[in-house]
Amino acid sequence: MKRICDISECPLGHRPVWGTGPDNPICMLVGEAPGADEDSYGEPFVGKSGQELSMYLKQFTKINRDHFWLDNVVKCHPPGNKDPLVEEIACCDHYLTVKLDELAPRFIGAVGRVATQWFLGKKVTMDKVHGIPFHWEIGLFDTIVIPLYHPAYGLHSPRQMKDVIEDFTALGRVIRGQMKPRSECDIKLNYKLEK
Ligand code: URA
Repeated sequence: MKRICDISECPLGHRPVWGTGPDNPICMLVGEAPGADEDSYGEPFVGKSGQELSMYLKQFTKINRDHFWLDNVVKCHPPGNKDPLVEEIACCDHYLTVKLDELAPRFIGAVGRVATQWFLGKKVTMDKVHGIPFHWEIGLFDTIVIPLYHPAYGLHSPRQMKDVIEDFTALGRVIRGQMKPRSECDIKLNYKLEK
């Protein structure tokens, strides 16, 4: 598949929302794509789901959002808030790969299905993997990826909110070393081969 390295050729538009956070983040959180608020403001996770995310981080992970690098698989807002298409992901995700190489985070929270499948492969479903830490290798570094239900999912019902709470609680435990990746669940996938 052709990679479009010039953002001006991106089918989604010309207004990328780049990741933000400290140089040495405790963890990197990767969502799917900026929403309309993020598009206007120019920062990831600043709209309603961003506010929810801040709340889950503070209350359940017990780590303030300032310690996280916040980013997305796709950098531009897909019109109509649709999930990004495979070709849109393919022409944009090298920016994420470069950032991963640069920051080499010890922990990565994959926020929602699109990000989870980017890391673990198209076949995984959220109900099977959410809240479980997986070893993940990319190039020179080895990290732990935890799939998390998207904070927006928690807005649908108390049952779904409970799932999100469990995932963010697990994220905090993994970061503090209180929960190890389960070896039988390790997916040492080379995501490049998967695509
Ligand atoms: N949802 C995402 O996945 N990313 C954002 O930046 C905002 C909402």
